[in-house]
Amino acid sequence: MNIWEALASYDYPNKSGLDYINEFTFLVAILLSAQAQDAFINTQTPDFFKIAPNANAMYDLGVEKIAHYIHRIGLWRNKAQNIHKLSAKIIEFQQIKDQRTWYDNLCQQYPSNGDDTHLYGPIISSEGIPGFRIGLLQLAGIGRKSANVFLNVIYNAPVFPVDTHVQRVGKRLGIVSGNNPFEMEQMMIESVPFEYSKVICHWLVWHGRRVCDAKKPKCGDCKLKKYCNYVKKW
Ligand code: SF4
Repeated sequence: MNIWEALASYDYPNKSGLDYINEFTFLVAILLSAQAQDAFINTQTPDFFKIAPNANAMYDLGVEKIAHYIHRIGLWRNKAQNIHKLSAKIIEFQQIKDQRTWYDNLCQQYPSNGDDTHLYGPIISSEGIPGFRIGLLQLAGIGRKSANVFLNVIYNAPVFPVDTHVQRVGKRLGIVSGNNPFEMEQMMIESVPFEYSKVICHWLVWHGRRVCDAKKPKCGDCKLKKYCNYVKKW
């Protein structure tokens, strides 16, 4: 059994821990989850997503009412403003007539890191959301990690969202090193076998939550201990 098979044997879910009802609400949930626990975000979003399930409804709600729904979540003031701006931009995207020209111009305008211009879905979906990384990065509050989460979950794209769990567990297991998330992403592209590339970040996150805790990892029970640099140090 290799390290990937050992991780697979945990049978962790191949999905995000965030609840959502469509692409738009998933994007908003990702934005809300910055520096917050997915499980807590899920307790705060059902009514919010019911009342504003798309960009138009969210934009019409306005910053104050958005803030009312998310005020228990950390950084809520900034997040409310970003959700409103993101909704305005998505409405703008929905009105683009010549999507191909818009896409070509955007790709020329921004220096590409790796596969940033790769289309994992439509240029702009029916909900107004771009199916490629540079397009997603035009949205307020959406950075590279968030864009990767979106592409991985919605389009099953082989991209690697490097969050705090992926960094910690990945470093302990020797899959990544250093402190630069972009470089870690490239290390994963090089080392993760293709058949695991769509699921590995989900599994590392679940392993980080359930077994490989930051302060008290349960190494004694961990099926990955024979591959783990952290254990070898002791
Ligand atoms: S052996 Fe310990 S440190 Fe290594 S992955 Fe497992 S729980 Fe984490």
